[in-house]
Order: sequence, then structure tokens, then C-alpha cells
Amino acid sequence: MSTDVTNSKKHQASLAAVADMDIYPASVTEAGGLIWAMGRKDLDKYLLIATICGCGCELSPDFEGNVVRGEDIVIKICPLTHGNAVALRKALPFTAPRLVGLSGSVGCGDRLGLATPGHIRAACGSGFIPFLAQQSIREMERTGRTPEDVMDDATWGVMQEGYTDGYGSDADHLKQPKDIDSCLAAGFTLFTVDPGDHVDNAADGYNDAELEARFQKLSFADLGITADEMIFIYEDRQFDLGQSMLSFDHHTLLKAAVKYSDAVLHTAGMYRHLGEAAAGRPYELEVSVDETETPTTALEHIFIASELKRLGVKWVSLAPRFTGRFEKGVDYIGDLSEFEARFAEHAAIAKLFGGYKISLHSGSDKFSIYPAVARYTGQLVHLKTAGTSYLEAVRVIAAYAPALFREIFVFARQRYEMDKATYHVSASMERVPDISVLSDADLPELLDHFDIRQMLHVTFGSVLTAVKPDGKLLFRDSLRDVLRRHEEKHYEILATHMKHHLELFG
Ligand SMILES: [Zn+2]
Repeated sequence: MSTDVTNSKKHQASLAAVADMDIYPASVTEAGGLIWAMGRKDLDKYLLIATICGCGCELSPDFEGNVVRGEDIVIKICPLTHGNAVALRKALPFTAPRLVGLSGSVGCGDRLGLATPGHIRAACGSGFIPFLAQQSIREMERTGRTPEDVMDDATWGVMQEGYTDGYGSDADHLKQPKDIDSCLAAGFTLFTVDPGDHVDNAADGYNDAELEARFQKLSFADLGITADEMIFIYEDRQFDLGQSMLSFDHHTLLKAAVKYSDAVLHTAGMYRHLGEAAAGRPYELEVSVDETETPTTALEHIFIASELKRLGVKWVSLAPRFTGRFEKGVDYIGDLSEFEARFAEHAAIAKLFGGYKISLHSGSDKFSIYPAVARYTGQLVHLKTAGTSYLEAVRVIAAYAPALFREIFVFARQRYEMDKATYHVSASMERVPDISVLSDADLPELLDHFDIRQMLHVTFGSVLTAVKPDGKLLFRDSLRDVLRRHEEKHYEILATHMKHHLELFG
């Protein structure tokens, strides 16, 4: 055994004895002359900071906590508060997110704030860098979490696992400058700008006269060119995608410009705001147009990328809306060869405009397309997942707390029709079985059922925020308690499920 391992074991034993709690072995770290670790007593976790020098020197004044003294060790036991998370990210930089750039990466949304250790175990050795703090503003509102909550939960998970390889953080689907400000303040490093509200989805239906009129009225002053100059830049120019050459004719150019120019301008404005607000702090950008009504064509992708570049925007990843159906919680629905042909164009365009990652939103559980995605992007890819980790958490509930699972199930079934409005789903509640006739042993495999996965997926916000008449949360706290009680099982189930995703990328 190496001296480090022996020391770590020794530290672990004295921390456990003096603090009177279980210590997470992977968390024990020596840095700055101190010993750092995560401990757990019953269901509550703590950060422990200890000194064995015996000089009684002050233990990290930046952290709030209670000091306990053993014979040869002094420990500060710190609750997992926001202030302590901020101090920890400063003291041990590996617990803070970093820029990921063009490395292959996987977004691991964690709506319950308990999944990070499972996500780390899935990403370790996969060649993908995990984004451990990732939530859209919409999902934060739906789960009653703040950007700080999301960031802090990732920090504690990283500390618990002693994970030092670096992770990303994604403030997802930001629509307004104030979203950037709140996420920047919480320490986020990747900002996904969603200009979807500024896309003219009706452009596909305009006739030539309407297109021409709308084109002439675009904000050319803000775009920094005239209408004629835009035509000169794009019309009949050849774009070499390797397998094919593409060019705009007058109609396709006007359609792309009318549909996306405002979205491009909005993105450029958000990017400038980010640069100013960051004031020297590191940041990176993703552009997402995945929530538009129609798939992004190759020419539209070219227009968006070329215009963003012309306006000085720099981004590491871009999420087109792909052909076929990317429904929540289930595999890709659509023609695989058609997907592959269109995806190949998107990947080629990303390479043509400087080499950025193609980002796959609603990317979880799309097992049938991963091999093609890997073939065309290599590692220039970001796979974004979120709800699938919530479903795996619910699988743990089905196995260990069947009564609670049954209540959530019945509640979700009632909420589905209302909650599905903003999601791409096609589940039918008529195909969802009556849970009262099923035995407890049958419950975990309900999580493999298409309609039930979608039902549970889109109702997460209602489930996590539902309150009883007395104002207490109906499910959230008991759901979290079960997961904390069975945390190793939770991590194992999550890691297996996420690994299954990453392995298909080869
Ligand atoms: Zn998205």
C-alpha cells in the first residue's frame, strides 16, 4: 500500500471517530496543509476540514461550522450551505466547474440535486467530460431550484467522489440577459442561448412576394450590412460539405434570412451581454435552435453559423433541430437513414465553420442514433441529457418505496394531459396500466414502458413541487429521503444507464 493510501485510511478513521460520522472514502483529500472530506450522519452530509499539526492554527475562517477536537486532530464540521460551497470552490478548485471547449462532453441534468456521484461514475473512463451542473431556467422554475442550488449540488457531489478531472456547467436555454446574470453569479461557465422566440416559424409558408417584403424589412442596420450586401455574400456561393456542395438560390436565402436573422441578432446581443457581464471571468457559449417548429435545414444551419461568425460571436457548440422525433425519455422515432444523411450535413457544416461541437438536445435514450452521431462527429459532440436521470431515480423509488411510487404514479397520470403541453411526447394514458392490480415486484420494470416513461418525464415539475393542504411538499422530501437512504443503489443504477449511452459512441 502506498503512503498516500495508508495516510488517507488513517485520516478517514480519525475523522470518523472524532466527528462521529461515516466518511466517504473517495472524498478524503490533503490540500493546503489540511485534510478535507465529506461525512454523513444519518441522512445529513457535512464537509469536514481537519488539521493534524496540533498547533491549533485557525481552520479555514472562510467556512462556517463547529469545531470538535480529538487527541491528535481538530475538525471543523461544516453544513452544506451555499456559503460553504462558494468557499470550497475557491479552496479546492477541482470542485468548481471549468471550460470544456471542444472536448467531447455529456450534459448530465440533475433535477433532484442527488445524481452527481452517479454521473461521475458513468463519465469516468468514457472520454466524455461531464457537465454536472446543468439546468434550464424553465426547469429551475419547475423544480423550485435556483442557479446556486444547481451549482452547489454539483460541487458537493464532486467533493464526495473526490473527482478531480474537471467538469462543465451549463446554464441551459437562456432567453433573456437577466438569465445570464443570475447564472453567471452562481458560477456557471457554459451559457446556452436559445433564440427560439426570435425565429419566424411561419417563414416556410410565405410566398415569394411576402418573403421579399419581409426580407427588405429586416434589421439590416443592426446586422451591419445592406440587403444587397447580404444577397451578394450568400446567393449562388458554393459551400463544400465534402460529400456534397450546397448553395442558396434567391428563395432559400430569403427564407433563411427572414426565418433566422432576428434570432442571430438576439444571440449576438446575448453574447455581447455575456462578455460584458463576465468581466474577465471565463465563459463559453452554446447556441440552440432545437426548439423551433421545423427541422433546421443544412442551408439554414449555414446561414446561422455564417452570420454569427460575421457578427463576431464565438461558440463551442450548436444544437440544430434534427429531422425525426426527439421525444422525451424514449428512443429516436423516425427514418434512421434520413437522420444519418441530414446529420452528416450538420456535422460537415460544423467543421466548415471552424469546427464546433454538434449538440444533441433531448439526447437521452436515443440509442439507435448514437453510432451514426459518433461516425460523423468523432468527439466533436455534446450529448445533452436531463430527464432520463430523474426517471432512473424514480426507478429506485419503485424498487425501495413502492407505496410512494404508487402515489407518484397516480398523481402523474392525472397531471399528464396538462403537463405535456411544452414537450415533444406522444404517450397515451389509455396504454398506461392500472397500477392497483400490479404487485410491488412488477413496479421497477414500469420504467421501461414507453408511455409511462413519458408520463413520469413531463410531470417531474408537478411531482417535485406538489404541496399538501398544510403547505408541506407532497412527494419531494420523501422522494429525496428514499434516494439518500439508498444512495449507492441510486448511483449504481444511474451510472449503468448513462454508461449505456456513452458506450454507443465507441
Ligand atoms: Zn434543448
